[in-house]
Amino acid sequence: MMDRYAVIGNPVAHSKSPWIHAEFARATGQRMSYLRIEAPLKGFARTVDAFRASGGRGANVTLPFKREAFAYCASTSVRAGAARAVNTLRLDRDSPWGDNTDGAGLLRDLEANLGVAPRGRRVLLMGAGGAAQGVLEPLAKAGAAAIVVVNRDIAKAQALVARVAGDPGVARLGACGYADLAGESFDMVINATSSGLSDELPPLPAGLFAPQALAYDMMYGRDTPFLAFARDAGVRTADGSGMLVEQAAESFFLWRGVRPATRAVLAALRVG
Ligand code: NDP
Repeated sequence: MMDRYAVIGNPVAHSKSPWIHAEFARATGQRMSYLRIEAPLKGFARTVDAFRASGGRGANVTLPFKREAFAYCASTSVRAGAARAVNTLRLDRDSPWGDNTDGAGLLRDLEANLGVAPRGRRVLLMGAGGAAQGVLEPLAKAGAAAIVVVNRDIAKAQALVARVAGDPGVARLGACGYADLAGESFDMVINATSSGLSDELPPLPAGLFAPQALAYDMMYGRDTPFLAFARDAGVRTADGSGMLVEQAAESFFLWRGVRPATRAVLAALRVG
């Protein structure tokens, strides 16, 4: 039987991960299959248990289960521990082990694919869910001058910032609600909310983008109100396809010990 992997989320029908991992497997000669599994909103652990019992060797976890995946794991990597969110499960050991490749994927996309390193920049991170949890610490350690986390539920943004602030070598961090953004401007605005899924635009003020800013939406595969807002403001935009491919490559490496090339997969994904 081929080694089995899956992406587990809800909703998950839109996920490009099965295609990406099939391309990686083909390019590196790995024999494996990769499924899409929609877990009931109250049935994440049950779903992973069943997949593991059926021989599943690893899984990616997507929204809204990254924090539950962290709780599910008996042990995790340091970066998943810092994020308290897991997007990559290894199920081929005695007990489930988790990692978080979102931060590495985002940084590689920004730095290697887009040529826009966070170093020295003022960054606004929108959202305080699983995705924001995964990327805040890596961004803060990548030399950003300052990072503000904005969320509808301000307490969640404050809790996230409190966990990362104070570590040696991290950026100046702040947390706020959308109404507090008036009069602020940023060199990099990263949308880590799921607002694009419901075609909504968080209430962002005019003047949010500094000249030469990058607007980055982690959502991929569709135009979002956030990207349209940024285009109207005349700034450079990028969707989350690059992050998706780079975090997938990192997961693939964890499972198979082989690092796939990403350029051709990303080019095909952008065209398709
Ligand atoms: P979660 O469900 O964990 O968190 C959702 C976040 O979005 C919360 O902070 C929530 O705010 C906020 N939110 C939802 N709707 C709105 C809205 N209308 N206006 C403002 N804020 C809103 O999801 P994840 O963090 O796991 O995922 C977030 C997004 O990132 C998804 O679109 C996902 O597809 C994408 N993603 C992309 C990746 C990639 O590789 N490209 C990797 C990871 C994620 P509140 O707390 O106030 O409710």
